[in-house]
Amino acid sequence: MLTDYHLHLRPDDERARARDHFTAENAQRYREAATAAGIGELGVSEHVHRFHQSLVVWDHPWYRYWAADDLDEYCAFVREETDLKLGIELDYLPGREERIAELVAAHDFDYVVGSVHFVDDTIVDLLGDARWRDHDAWRRYDPDTVWRRYFELLGQAARSGLFDILAHPDLVKVQGRSGPWPERDPRFYWEVALEAIAESDVAIEFSTAGWRKPIGEPYPDAAFLRECVALGRPIALSSDAHRPDQVGFRYEEAVELLRDAGVERIAVFERRARRLEPLP
Ligand SMILES: [Zn+2]
Ligand SMILES: [Zn+2]
Repeated sequence: MLTDYHLHLRPDDERARARDHFTAENAQRYREAATAAGIGELGVSEHVHRFHQSLVVWDHPWYRYWAADDLDEYCAFVREETDLKLGIELDYLPGREERIAELVAAHDFDYVVGSVHFVDDTIVDLLGDARWRDHDAWRRYDPDTVWRRYFELLGQAARSGLFDILAHPDLVKVQGRSGPWPERDPRFYWEVALEAIAESDVAIEFSTAGWRKPIGEPYPDAAFLRECVALGRPIALSSDAHRPDQVGFRYEEAVELLRDAGVERIAVFERRARRLEPLP
């Protein structure tokens, strides 16, 4: 069984409106791309910040900029007009766990994808990305601090119990050496996150999206993946596609890497219950 659970039905573009992309025809395009790639399990996980309900969780300028759509309408659309699993991509925001839990509890998701996109108030995956006005914010901190904070938060996200899948675990590396890049070996920073992951029940995402980014490698690093496997954590496979042609992006290589790391089964979700299915 192959899965692609971390999918977006539209690009990260404010002009990509719900009414144009949350359609049965668009969902069908993703389904067809998945079928062609041999992917049986498909689900969507729209970013929480695109829904006005996210402002109850966090009144942050980034959320205010994006929050236009209705979360209940999205859920109803996925359930009634598509054959896709229903998920959502949430930010882990320390101190806001209760509000996040309330938002999750109010909807019948098949799975919840948890991401660390923010280190404090700053967006990690746009650091060094000139398209975002705050992309240079990390220069106010040293790279060592950014990485240290990022992996602390990743550990807290795992331990919070809020999420079924921990997304793109070492996302902080996304921009490669044009973003924050500390001198120390990455393993030094992983330690705190791995300790928390060991105590958690979360599935670890293997995401092929990093191959489309300046870093040019999947998330997480192969050595990080091996550590998670050794800890007995289940692995969830996704592409983080934002277009149909990104569904199952570089999955042949991904399956090879997963096999090399000792992964024989991957996580499958339904109404927030997890089971493991053999990797083909
Ligand atoms: Zn993400
Ligand atoms: Zn995503």
